[in-house]
Amino acid sequence: MKILIIEDEKLIADSLKKGLEQRKFSVDTAYNGKDGYLLAQQFEYDVIILDLMLPDIQGEEICQKLRKDKIDTYILMLTAKKQIDDIVSGLNHGADDYLTKPFEFSELLARIRALIRRTSENKENILYTSCIKLYLDKEKVFIGSKEIKLTKKEFMILEYFLRNKGQVLSRNQILEHAWDRNVDIFTNVVDTHIKNLRRKLGKRNSTIEAVYGSGYRIKDDK
Ligand code: CA
Repeated sequence: MKILIIEDEKLIADSLKKGLEQRKFSVDTAYNGKDGYLLAQQFEYDVIILDLMLPDIQGEEICQKLRKDKIDTYILMLTAKKQIDDIVSGLNHGADDYLTKPFEFSELLARIRALIRRTSENKENILYTSCIKLYLDKEKVFIGSKEIKLTKKEFMILEYFLRNKGQVLSRNQILEHAWDRNVDIFTNVVDTHIKNLRRKLGKRNSTIEAVYGSGYRIKDDK
């Protein structure tokens, strides 16, 4: 899952990025409203964490502009103000949820997961095929009853496949989804990670297949 953080307090933005990356999200950051707005227009994110008080464009305005642009990415507004009026106003401008500062990281994480679940057909925290089970909250993967140890990137790639079962995902889509925007798009990291992922899942259980000239897909064997 890919997240954009728009937050001018660098310390907060950077520590959130670090925390979320540890929890297997890929994260881009913008330290002002203008950059954040451009990134949100340019790339596809699953959730945008948007600070309300920014030095240039205010969070509410960004929210409103994105909705006008027909970008319907979930927006979680961060606000230092606890006044109910600000919260109501944020929601009225198109935000999906809000959190008042200071907040606990665990609450932010739970709210991000709840937002992502809204679009998912599967309301549980589990993604699966007939032999693979991926637990989003515990960050664990099982083949039958056996746990498979995956790296952060392998987990993120498998999660992306499982959310898009049956669909062919191009190398670029996978790259954009599981890496941040600083990645070199001319590398073959995607193929390397998928090769390792297939090896770990085991030949018999790996339903990830290469689609010649297009990318990869996981077979939907449900
Ligand atoms: Ca701020």
